[in-house]
Amino acid sequence: SIPLSFFGGIGGASRNGILIKGGNFLEALQKVDTVVFDKTGTLTKGIFSVTRIQALSTKSEEEVLRLAALAEMHSNHPIALSIKRAYNASHEGNVEHYEELAGYGVKAHIDGQTILVGNDKLLHEQGIAHERITTPQSVVYVALEGELVGYLIIEDTPKEESKEAILALRSLGINEIIMLTGDHKATAQSVGEKLGITQIEAELLPHQKVEKLEEIMARKQGKGKTVFVGDGINDAPVLARSDVGIAMGGVGSDAAIEAADVVIMTDEITKVATALKIARKTHTIVW
Ligand code: ADP
Ligand code: MG
Repeated sequence: SIPLSFFGGIGGASRNGILIKGGNFLEALQKVDTVVFDKTGTLTKGIFSVTRIQALSTKSEEEVLRLAALAEMHSNHPIALSIKRAYNASHEGNVEHYEELAGYGVKAHIDGQTILVGNDKLLHEQGIAHERITTPQSVVYVALEGELVGYLIIEDTPKEESKEAILALRSLGINEIIMLTGDHKATAQSVGEKLGITQIEAELLPHQKVEKLEEIMARKQGKGKTVFVGDGINDAPVLARSDVGIAMGGVGSDAAIEAADVVIMTDEITKVATALKIARKTHTIVW
């Protein structure tokens, strides 16, 4: 049987826009000592803007952007959306084949030509020679027919309340706060510095995020529970695997809401600490 006060806790949480899918998760929240965050769309706004276009071959900057926008036509990744916004002309081109490579980018055949748009790992995996660009922003490479033709510099910014959300967790005694991301190290570190997160695991593919989470959980040897907070884009398996998966309901995908144990309907990241506080208060009533 579930103690009555668990219902009280769940009710209190729901009045705060926090949906907890059962008393067992409320109980787990009481024992949390580690909070792991996804970066893009969770700690950051997930709204990128293209701030620079660099052409590397005979192609113009306009053409590099056009190729990228064409290849991203069917992608809903935050990076794809930013590229399509920047191009804002009508898409002309016949997409014969399209593939989204989670954690890498996209590959498309358009008008008989192969276009790759994505990160350093994508170029490496596809055997395309290139110089690695390092900036605190994200770099999106564009290759045509096996040749690098340019890259885009795109920027995302931390959510206004992310720093406060981290401070609130630390004031609750949560010492282990970790960021996981598929983005490259320099970008992750720059976001970490702004928010006060020093434990960072970057350049992870979706399945490696799950492995990292399992590593973190194994280190604790059953002592303390681990929360993962994500938006569901490329991290639904991590939400499902953690002791308590918390999804952002406002922007989160249906997959995230499905895979999560707790949904923050208002999309306010500060409510991760609120959920812990409500759970702890419930604990006091029960025992
Ligand atoms: P995060 O872990 O930061 O939330 P993702 O796992 O969604 O990010 O993506 C990791 C990386 O894969 C991105 O930083 C980007 O370099 C690349 N990537 C993923 N999808 C796309 C796409 N549609 N277009 C370009 N690059 C992409
Ligand atoms: Mg993400």
